Amino acid sequence: MEKKELLYEGKAKKVYTTEDPDILIVSYKDDATAFNGLKKGTIVGKGAINNRMTNHIFGLLEKEGVPTHLVKELDDRETAVKKVEIVPLEVIIRNFSAGSFAKKMGMEEGIQFKCPTLEFSYKNDDLGDPFINSYYALALGLATQEEIDAITKYAFKVNEVMQKYFASLNIELIDFKIEFGRYHGQIILADEVSPDTCRLWDKDTHEKLDKDRFRRDMGNVEDAYQEVFRRLGIADRE
Ligand code: ADP
Ligand code: UDP
Repeated sequence: MEKKELLYEGKAKKVYTTEDPDILIVSYKDDATAFNGLKKGTIVGKGAINNRMTNHIFGLLEKEGVPTHLVKELDDRETAVKKVEIVPLEVIIRNFSAGSFAKKMGMEEGIQFKCPTLEFSYKNDDLGDPFINSYYALALGLATQEEIDAITKYAFKVNEVMQKYFASLNIELIDFKIEFGRYHGQIILADEVSPDTCRLWDKDTHEKLDKDRFRRDMGNVEDAYQEVFRRLGIADRE
């Protein structure tokens, strides 16, 4: 499969068209941004780790009944995916307090919730991805009730599968963001799941193994991404 034209260049990935109108190629970059693009940098090796981790986890999710955009990993950084129309909602699931939630609720980080939470942000860089609820999404025509129901069901399933899987790697899944798209009338999981989009803490030491190390200038950013990649057990190709 060959790249044809650059369709879109985002903050972390480039997206190319292919001969097949239903298939895109995503190419993961080492570029890192935070605070809506205000902070910029590079995390060496991140592109390959995020690509391979996303595909590995999307494979597990498919087996558990969550449809995803994954078609084929092409190389370390590039993957063929189903071209979807992205639903402009960032879907955030949280198991523990952290980040903007902890700040908003005046809580310290790392408090376990009684049950997972789900929230939506309107995916709009100019507005800084504002928090919205499902009524706003319906009122603005961002998604239908059926789509919101499917997204909600899949998002909690993704959490269940990932929480269990990361626990087996001695990693606590604190929170994460996912995106869904429309593909021939169906809602499927798109974009990525990686240390860029998940908060991952070592279960014993509570060491942060994710992009917060970059956001908060904590150092050892590359090491953290490598450590997650190592625990996934996919670093050595056959
Ligand atoms: P951003 O747009 O936030 O800077 P990225 O650099 O990750 O983010 O760019 C990738 C873009 O591709 C995102 O806007 C994402 O919503 C979109 N995308 C992800 N998967 C698909 C897909 N299967 N089909 C179409 N677009 C996708
Ligand atoms: N997140 C993301 N992209 C965003 C905003 C958040 O991937 O544009 C992820 C983030 O990595 C974390 C979760 O969503 O795992 C919850 O983030 P939060 O709302 O706490 O925002 P933050 O503190 O990152 O601003």
